[in-house]
Amino acid sequence: MARDERGVTPQSEDFSAWYNELVLKAELVDRGPVRGTMIMRPYGFGIWELLQADLDRRIKETGHVNAYFPLLIPESYMQREAEHVEGFSPELAVVTHAGGKELEEPLIIRPTSETIIGEAMSRWISSHRDLPLLLNQWANVVRWEMRPRLLLRTTEFLWQEGHTAHASADEAMTETMLATGFYRDLARDLAAMPVIAGEKTASERFAGAQRTFTIEGMMRDGRALQAGTSHYMGSNFARAFGIQYTGPDDTLQYCFTTSWGMSSRMVGGVVMTHGDDQGLVLPPGVAPYQIVIVPIGRGAAEAAATAAAQDLAGRLRGAGLRVHVDGRSHLSPGYKFNDWELRGVPVRLELGPRDLAAGTVLMARRLGEGKEAVSLDSAPARLSFELTAFQATLLQRATEFREQHTVQVQTWPEFVTAVASGWASALHCGSAECEADIKAETTATARCIPFDGEPDSGPCVRCGRPSDYGKRVLFGRSY
Ligand SMILES: [Zn+2]
Repeated sequence: MARDERGVTPQSEDFSAWYNELVLKAELVDRGPVRGTMIMRPYGFGIWELLQADLDRRIKETGHVNAYFPLLIPESYMQREAEHVEGFSPELAVVTHAGGKELEEPLIIRPTSETIIGEAMSRWISSHRDLPLLLNQWANVVRWEMRPRLLLRTTEFLWQEGHTAHASADEAMTETMLATGFYRDLARDLAAMPVIAGEKTASERFAGAQRTFTIEGMMRDGRALQAGTSHYMGSNFARAFGIQYTGPDDTLQYCFTTSWGMSSRMVGGVVMTHGDDQGLVLPPGVAPYQIVIVPIGRGAAEAAATAAAQDLAGRLRGAGLRVHVDGRSHLSPGYKFNDWELRGVPVRLELGPRDLAAGTVLMARRLGEGKEAVSLDSAPARLSFELTAFQATLLQRATEFREQHTVQVQTWPEFVTAVASGWASALHCGSAECEADIKAETTATARCIPFDGEPDSGPCVRCGRPSDYGKRVLFGRSY
């Protein structure tokens, strides 16, 4: 797509077109040659790297270690856990030929690694002293997508998958909740996404899990994005793969396992949580460039401004900020301003001869509010403050948006209206058929049973039978 085709379809006019154009024009991603695949360009990959680094730190601080398992999984492994293979079968990519011959056993390109890691765990664990085993893997996975969407649903995507084995059910459940906490905190602190954490209903559970937990973010079109999940497997996979240990009393026991993942779709979540008609709006926590400096002037004046911009950039980097100097002298300042606005840079600084003479730089924030002169001397402290404030503003704005678009509904008509533009918090009977009926009528699904929901009961919003769960369920249309 030509970069001089300026702007994108306004978000308010066509959210889907806005998103599809923006992720390409902002140079986050490009389409891969195989349908459903994507290229993560440096700017988009930069956002992912920031998310990844922060999550990796949280994972390691809590005693987990990284490892790497093979991409190719024997088909027989997938078949050992019945629900798991049934859930994943429709989206598996299978290698049947290699080295010029048909393989004796087809190989699955990993869609997730419970099976291959489970098999290794069964060999690595023998005693209670080997537990807990706390592993994490950063990898790509392949799930064949019928309706691909850049960053949100791609045939191949990047993620981390935690896999742990424990001696007791309680310990495994604590681990599952710990992982949900990683994702909730990461989303809030780095991506300024005020997600709702909770449990999935039975019909939305991971294939093979006994309980699944999730974080759900509200996008600016009112739809939900599942942005990280963690699963308590009980001993399902331990039984399928023989993950056993000898307890202190010398008896042989099955382990309890968990798995949990967050993927590159989180980058798409950032786009849809904060973006506006002008383009991306990046929270400083995930912005590859938190500040862009545009030198202004021609000839000798431009050279002086560029030198001063480099000097300022060095001082800002010294204060721990991520700064880029836009030295593209063949482009006009106006072009550059629009470009960085489209690409969502939180703060832009303009530095020209007049600013230099005054010992100041002109600051423009991504959300408008006019320009303001900032003294060069105080710039590092002032910009650190501005970025912190910008991050807080985005979190607050997204929280207010979510609250305005979440309705506690009592009746079915209220439910239908609520899920047309946001989320409905409703009482539900807990039956899978009733959930399926709601989906057929409205395309909305049960997103989660929020952890922080107040105790509540009454008739199911759809069928009128008594409610289950003891609290309200969040419903919405989702990505
Ligand atoms: Zn019902």
